[in-house]
Amino acid sequence: MLTFGSDEWIDALDEAARDDAALAEASASLDLVVEQVLTDGTRWHVVVDHGTVRVRPGPADRPTVTFTQDRATAAAIARGDDSAQGAFLRGDLRLGGDVGALVARAGVLDRLTDAQVTAPGSDEPTVPELPEIAAHAERLDAAYAGTDLAAFRALTFTALKTYAPAPDEAVGAPLEAVGHRGKHLLLTFPAVTFVVHLMQGGRLKPDEKQSAKPRGGLARWTFADGRALLLTEAGTEKRAGVWVVAGDPDDQEPLAHLGPDADLLDAAGLDAVLDGRSTRIHGLLRDQPVVAGIGRRLANEICHRARLSPFANAGRLDADERARLLQGIHECIAESLAYERTRDDMSSSKQRPGAVHHRAGEPCPVCGDQIRSVEYNAYTVSYCPTCQTAGKVLADNTTSKFLK
Ligand SMILES: [Zn+2]
Repeated sequence: MLTFGSDEWIDALDEAARDDAALAEASASLDLVVEQVLTDGTRWHVVVDHGTVRVRPGPADRPTVTFTQDRATAAAIARGDDSAQGAFLRGDLRLGGDVGALVARAGVLDRLTDAQVTAPGSDEPTVPELPEIAAHAERLDAAYAGTDLAAFRALTFTALKTYAPAPDEAVGAPLEAVGHRGKHLLLTFPAVTFVVHLMQGGRLKPDEKQSAKPRGGLARWTFADGRALLLTEAGTEKRAGVWVVAGDPDDQEPLAHLGPDADLLDAAGLDAVLDGRSTRIHGLLRDQPVVAGIGRRLANEICHRARLSPFANAGRLDADERARLLQGIHECIAESLAYERTRDDMSSSKQRPGAVHHRAGEPCPVCGDQIRSVEYNAYTVSYCPTCQTAGKVLADNTTSKFLK
């Protein structure tokens, strides 16, 4: 476990907030800065800026609101064992700044609390990335496109993330296509598009049983020929969901804030991703508003393929390094896509081809050096010292200096 409030924990929370489509949607029209102050002096702050939510160490420049509490209270709220409201009413949490602004934005903070619960201590789950989603979209398209929709039903209160348009606007019309954008699946009907985000444990599969209360069931599409598709999510935490949008889905949440799909980047597109950004490339590649579709596994594989340190400063890559990075992105995605296309269903993370991800201790297939890793709470950065860091081993206990 990471220490609550440590730099590594803040990094994990930032990671969780960044990948959270529901949080991006809830914060699309908001800007505020929440500063967290622990009575032992630890501080971090959350910057909500119109769909982008980042968590940073240290004090905020101009916080909208400040939460002051002791470490035990903050940790209990983060775990979900206590609520900020309850702690405030008991006097264990003090609020400063524009408290009215906070009340108006309560939904965003609830959502961020959910993200906090996820970040620390979670084992690396099977997260589908662009190749898995793209191949799955191809399979669903081949099997279901052209079939009329008979009904759509959300099976939980939280599965459907939009109020309008109504999903019934798709009923009676054919599924035109199943496609993808970043890590989202798109089911396109003439009047509306269903945008499905699987998050970590979500799956969209043929529903053979069509039982009344399917295990983990979130939503069901029933077709006129009697078949159905079922969206499920493993685990107790329900983060996957369905957005119904009319018009161009690219212009609307949850897709509007996404960067370009990684497999479509050209040299100019990659320059736009990198220029002016002083963050580590491993993190930048996974930042969906910057470039869409790459997760933890692909980021590891792409950095290795490009012979770049995962902690290399994005904006300082030279022309040759950028060319290698672009080639790495295209090759790693193409190889994963080719593998996924041989399958009947999405692979698990460990089945996917690769050189470094989840292979710490094994020999590098390129040079034979031992694959190393830097452990974060929510994910692992894997790399080959000889291929990527001029032989330098990045020890776990030096991680924090790379976060600065
Ligand atoms: Zn190597």
